[in-house]
Amino acid sequence: MARMSERAILPQRITVLSGGVGGARFLQGLQRLIQRTTATSQITVIANTGDDIWMHGLKVCPDLDTVMYTLGDGIDTDRGWGRKGETWHAKEELAAYGVQPDWFGLGDRDLATHLVRTQMLDAGYSLTDVTHALCRRWQPGVKLLPMTDDRVETHVVITDPDDGQDKAAHFQEYWIKHQAKVPAKAVVMIGADQAKPTQSVLEAISEADLILLPPSNPVVSVGAILAVPGIRDALLATKAPVAGISGIINGDHVRGMAKQLLEVISVECSAAGVAELYGARSRGGLLDAWLIDSSDSAAVNRISDAGIACQAVPLWMTDPDATADMCQAAIDLAHRNA
Ligand code: GDP
Ligand code: CA
Repeated sequence: MARMSERAILPQRITVLSGGVGGARFLQGLQRLIQRTTATSQITVIANTGDDIWMHGLKVCPDLDTVMYTLGDGIDTDRGWGRKGETWHAKEELAAYGVQPDWFGLGDRDLATHLVRTQMLDAGYSLTDVTHALCRRWQPGVKLLPMTDDRVETHVVITDPDDGQDKAAHFQEYWIKHQAKVPAKAVVMIGADQAKPTQSVLEAISEADLILLPPSNPVVSVGAILAVPGIRDALLATKAPVAGISGIINGDHVRGMAKQLLEVISVECSAAGVAELYGARSRGGLLDAWLIDSSDSAAVNRISDAGIACQAVPLWMTDPDATADMCQAAIDLAHRNA
């Protein structure tokens, strides 16, 4: 239902820094808000590519694909990742050859995406161009940008349960093979210090009317995007207000492994802990505004004292309408404090 008050305050150019499943759900809500207010806002998504991995010679970009499939109605909604109607014959055949790694879920339909992507990269196209080309099929309704065209891979230093040795494991190995259950000591964004944000990413930040940080993982999703040199400075410099939504509710991540990874970087796993990690823009950090869940309302004063406008509202993304209400609250809070 369109409400004039909502229509009046939706910014035109909204840029979102996104991970995979949490970011994609958030974007569905933001799209619902735009739809129900009949606004003409345009969304640009800067997606984490630190989760990217080469598998059997193919370039796999889990967070880009989760956003693309979710917004393009191709996602398996039960799993939250991968293609709906998926089959796993190629994975079974690879296992029959005894080829490693065997723990990564490569579905037959999904493989086509990775084949097209890898061929285009081999032909010299940038990941930004390839993503644009893949989105021609999926029509996600957003401009989807990788955070960089350069290779950045998030690794987690773990104690390998097989031999008791410390090693840097690719994030996918930590998360999928070990289910984030092995002791972790550090998070390292390999290649990040040499990576450059693309011109499109920098423009999406500098020309935005509003920047939103969805409840995506603050360490390996938003954290990886911020690790690309230049992105943090661009966020500090933009005229657009920056509003974030806590992915931590009542001291726990809703799904995923944020709790384990916040512990690794010695950040308190709470809505206030993550707000302080991002910091107030007025004090050299990132945030003008921060939404926390109603159950965390006792933290509003602590976060306000850190220089960040804060409000407690329901943050469970149970369906696109609930998420749209959350997005509206974030936009209102950002505008009231711009
Ligand atoms: P990933 O790349 O697939 O791990 O997805 P993201 O990094 O984009 O988002 C994962 C994060 O979303 C998790 O760490 C959770 O904290 C958060 N999350 C998931 N569902 C919800 C929800 O319903 N509400 C809120 N506030 N956060 C959520
Ligand atoms: Ca991810």
